Amino acid sequence: MGTEARVEIWEENPKKAARLIKQVIEEMERINQLMSPYISSSELSKLNKSAAKRPIKISKELFSLLKTSQEFSGLSHGAFDITFASVGYQYDYREGKSPSKDFIDKNKSLINYELIKLNKKKSTVTFLKPGVKIDLGGIAKGHAVDQAINMLLQEGVEHAFVQAGGDSRLIGDKKGRLWNIGIRHPRKEGEVITQVPLENVAISTSGDYERFYIKNGERVHHIIDPRTGKSSSKSISVTIIADSSTKADALSTTVFVLGFEKGLALIESIPGVSAIVIDNQGKFHYTKDLNSY
Ligand code: ADP
Ligand code: MG
Repeated sequence: MGTEARVEIWEENPKKAARLIKQVIEEMERINQLMSPYISSSELSKLNKSAAKRPIKISKELFSLLKTSQEFSGLSHGAFDITFASVGYQYDYREGKSPSKDFIDKNKSLINYELIKLNKKKSTVTFLKPGVKIDLGGIAKGHAVDQAINMLLQEGVEHAFVQAGGDSRLIGDKKGRLWNIGIRHPRKEGEVITQVPLENVAISTSGDYERFYIKNGERVHHIIDPRTGKSSSKSISVTIIADSSTKADALSTTVFVLGFEKGLALIESIPGVSAIVIDNQGKFHYTKDLNSY
């Protein structure tokens, strides 16, 4: 998924520790092979190639993540939408390339999660219009972290840290201390803006500094507002704390697009989820549970 992963495990038996770390890496690579848009044999690539022509049968795992993605789309009234890729695939941040205004105008209407039809009985997916494309960059890393954590829990691990890009999840504490999770400084590379002491939760950050280029003073980055087909400019960094990484990952992207007012209102309505938003003026905003600190 084009990112770095990290795993830390507290385990008395070194052989078991080595095996578990290997299993985490293998699990992440398995999910990468399934969901990467850069791998032409991935299930995701097959959907983008053919699901507008005929129903495509997919694994239960991908099916379930597509369903979860649609639930977040419904919850956010389309701020989270994996069909952003219908326009989004035309951006190349490394090359500094964006789609033309003409392309965006013509294809913007293909950004609509209701154009993905899921058939649960047959485990198939159909795209209702040609040109619809999907990308799971806003949720798949969270899913991969959850999968790894669930495996470690089943193996009886009591203290662990798993991270993929901006998505981390913890099992327990760090042996009597809390885990300190850094939130990256959105404008100074290699620096953290704050540290959050945590245990037993998931934390995800979405920022406009992960993949971007700057043209005519304007930051063009990887979080797309589905209504415009362009980079969302309401926030510069959003951190979500939740009980699962899939949820934290999807919601960090969602709140980024919604901006702090609508975004925090949404998060306040979901029990057990907290948010830290840095808006486009550099100002911090928190959910009420964090405000009391
Ligand atoms: P990262 O950890 O890669 O920074 P984020 O959680 O910040 O991931 O999500 C950004 C990624 O989400 C983008 O690279 C893209 O693949 C995907 N994405 C961008 N805009 C949206 C959107 N509106 N809805 C869902 N996914 C999106
Ligand atoms: Mg995210």
